Amino acid sequence: MDLYEYQAKDLFGAHGIPVLPGHVVTTSAQAQAVAAELGGAVVIKAQVKTGGRGKAGGVQLARDPDEAQRKAAAILGMDIKGHTVHRVLVTPACDIAEEYYLSFVLDRTQRTFLAMASVQGGMEIEEVAATAPEALAKVPVDPRFGVDAAKAAEIVAAAAFPPQVAQAVADTTLKLWDVFAAEDATLVEVNPLVRDTQGSIIALDGKVTLDDNAAFRHPAHAALADPSGQDPLETAARARHLNYVKLANGQVGIIGNGAGLVMSTLDVVAAAGQAHGGMRPANFLDIGGGANAQVMADGLEIVLGDPDVLSVFVNVFGGITACDQVATGIVQALDMLGAAAAKPLVVRLDGNNVAEGRRILARAAHPLVTMVDTMDAAADKAAELAAVTFAKGA
Ligand code: GDP
Ligand code: MN
Repeated sequence: MDLYEYQAKDLFGAHGIPVLPGHVVTTSAQAQAVAAELGGAVVIKAQVKTGGRGKAGGVQLARDPDEAQRKAAAILGMDIKGHTVHRVLVTPACDIAEEYYLSFVLDRTQRTFLAMASVQGGMEIEEVAATAPEALAKVPVDPRFGVDAAKAAEIVAAAAFPPQVAQAVADTTLKLWDVFAAEDATLVEVNPLVRDTQGSIIALDGKVTLDDNAAFRHPAHAALADPSGQDPLETAARARHLNYVKLANGQVGIIGNGAGLVMSTLDVVAAAGQAHGGMRPANFLDIGGGANAQVMADGLEIVLGDPDVLSVFVNVFGGITACDQVATGIVQALDMLGAAAAKPLVVRLDGNNVAEGRRILARAAHPLVTMVDTMDAAADKAAELAAVTFAKGA
């Protein structure tokens, strides 16, 4: 999960990194009020999860509250690289003497962590790396030892920070590592880290990517999620603890048990769809091993609730939860959903107790359910049914 600048700087502040105060607002009138409250010149900053806001006109200086109102009105609603600005940060203007760069990233290719630092901050770091690679220090960080005072000094020396800021930057480096490690981030970046005309070191911008796989260790991070930026079906699925990913340009809803089976189901449906007008899988949904009726109902409800879905392929291999239990789950789920289940379902059952499972589905004889014995034939049927509805709609 990527954070907004204001969220990143809140985290920085919580770990002792010097940041300027500020408030996030959604209207120009509120921006004016915050500017009046802060007093003096302010900077109005678009809060969008993309870089280069400054270049795009999303970061603007305002000398007084009236100008803050006008600048906020200009920035709110602006489109920055496809991101609409709904909120701006109003923060005291800083008298910048120098702009630096500092970050920690998970370096996947080297299988380690990497510190990057430069005294040529402010501009996009990719540009520094391309035009003046010698100005961007890269120091690997061994995850077993992390960053201590000596490592921080090494990073500061590698980037050749001026002597008068070396100690303060080393201190900030230690604290930035603390953010990275303690919050389970895969990226923490400060660009620019500035020296102001008073000689203070301040993190003026912040970028943080949190590792979603570590979310369970950080209950507080859930509050940082931005529901407006997420797919509503994925949000609903997460609330039901379902492993669901919405796929673009698909018409066949997929439900399976086991990530591997669901992945191969996506492939088989995409291949089968080529003979049926290019029908494609609409989602990934793994309901896991112990799929009882409630989990099946939750899964069906999510998939059937997707307006893109024209047919559903339920592909289950009975294991610990045997096919008869899965079949009972499907029948009960369809009962629970009632009229909400209005799209054709193709069910392929195999594995433990398959004969009994198929008997249960046959006995229920639900008008929407077609049973198909093999995965390939079932995928073909699901794609065909989707194509029929697709043709009617077209
Ligand atoms: P980005 O363009 O999305 O990375 O947004 P930044 O927050 O990094 O701002 C871009 C640039 O605007 C910075 O590198 C600074 O040069 C400038 N800037 C931002 N805040 C201030 C400020 O308070 N005072 C001054 N003088 N410049 C600022
Ligand atoms: Mn920046």
